[in-house]
Amino acid sequence: MIAPFTVTPQVFEQHLGALREERYKCVTFSELLDSLAAHTISSRTAVITFDDGYKDFADNALPVLQAHDYPSTLYLTTGFLAGGKLHHKESGPSDLMLDWAQLPELVASGTEIGAHSHSHPQLDTLTAAQLHRETHLPKELLENVLGVRVRSFAYPHGYNGPRVQRFIKNAGYDSAAGVRNAFTHSSDDRFNVARLMLQSHHSLETFRNWLRGLEAPPATRGEAMRTKLWRDYRRGKAIVRRQPGSDYQ
Ligand SMILES: [Zn+2]
Repeated sequence: MIAPFTVTPQVFEQHLGALREERYKCVTFSELLDSLAAHTISSRTAVITFDDGYKDFADNALPVLQAHDYPSTLYLTTGFLAGGKLHHKESGPSDLMLDWAQLPELVASGTEIGAHSHSHPQLDTLTAAQLHRETHLPKELLENVLGVRVRSFAYPHGYNGPRVQRFIKNAGYDSAAGVRNAFTHSSDDRFNVARLMLQSHHSLETFRNWLRGLEAPPATRGEAMRTKLWRDYRRGKAIVRRQPGSDYQ
C-alpha cells in the first residue's frame, strides 16, 4: 500500500545529488520557518520531510542524507512506533516502524522530530476529545523521550482546516506541514505549509524540474471549494459511525 510513496536508496541518492548540483541548501522544517520569519531565507532552500516513522528511514534514508550532510524532518505517528510499551500503543504496522529507543540517536544526527498524530486518523472528522488526544499526546510522548521541544506537526493524509489548526496551535506547535503538492513560499500559511509529495512514478527529470520551480503550482491561501466539500463528505461518514450525543464541535 505504501509502494507508490517509496523510492530506492539509489533514486534517493540521485535526488540529493540533483539538490547539490542545483546548489540547494537543505534545512529542517522549523529552520525554514525561522528563516522565513527572520527574512533571512535564500531562494534555494529545500526541506526534506518523511512522514509516519518507518524503520527504513534509519536503515536506508539517513545514511544517504548523512553522506550529503543534509538534515531532514521526520514526522512520527507515535502510536505506531515499536517498543516502549508505556507509550499507549495503537494497532498499526509495527514491524516496519522505528523503535522508540532509536529516536535519541536520530536527534543526535541532526534530524528534527515532528509529530504526525498518535493513530493517523483523518483529523478533520474527529470529535473534540479525539482531536485533543491526537494533537497533544504525541507531543508530550516525544518531548518526554527526546528532552527537546517538538515544534512541528504534519497532518495525516494532509487533512486539516481551521478547526484542526486551532487544536494544533493550542497544543503548542508553531508550524504544521500539509501536502497540497505545491511550492511553499514566504506568504504561505505556516499551519498548512505546502509540500510536494514525491512518488515512485516521478522521474528524475520531474524532480529536477521542481528544483527549477516547474511542474507544480505555487501554494495558494485558503481552501479550495472541492477541499471543503470532500471534508463534509468524509465528516458525514464519520458522524454516522459515531454514537449520538458525541462531542463533535
Ligand atoms: Zn502519514
